[in-house]
Amino acid sequence: MPEGWRYAVGVGSNLGERREIIARGRDLLDAGGVARVVESSDLIETAPVGGPSGQGAFLNGVWIVASGFGPHQVLAELQRIEAACGRVRTVHWGPRTLDLDLLLRDDGLVVSSAVLTLPHPRIQERPFVLVPLSLVAPNWPLPVRPS
Ligand code: ATP
Ligand code: CA
Ligand code: CA
Repeated sequence: MPEGWRYAVGVGSNLGERREIIARGRDLLDAGGVARVVESSDLIETAPVGGPSGQGAFLNGVWIVASGFGPHQVLAELQRIEAACGRVRTVHWGPRTLDLDLLLRDDGLVVSSAVLTLPHPRIQERPFVLVPLSLVAPNWPLPVRPS
């Protein structure tokens, strides 16, 4: 597998056996031939923000994955793994077994398509993304947002 790029992936789970689900997602990604996890942050417990009330706490972390594929192909692979880990899309920002967000590519690539915005537009407002990202990808270019 060519591995020319590094991507940061935001990982979250707040339904079911969260730690096991995240570990299974990682194994499936590694086995899929599209991208391989080369680094992973610790998982941190985070209260849910937005979405319906009463949902459980998240475990969140960040993976660095290596891939020779472009961002749309990597996103499709992440969505395949969400589905394989039992994710059912119901309510927006509702509970989910596994959420894999494409956060950033190491060269700072900007994408704006119908299905993909890169860098992920909500990185800056989410400490549960920013903190692990700063640990596993300290020197990557983060987008500057107008305040
Ligand atoms: P948020 O994006 O605020 O974290 P979410 O993860 O709950 O919300 P989803 O329901 O998982 O949102 O995804 C909705 C859509 O977002 C997906 O169908 C996907 O096409 C689109 N999308 C756009 N940019 C990205 C990205 N960088 N990473 C993942 N999905 C993205
Ligand atoms: Ca998300
Ligand atoms: Ca998502």
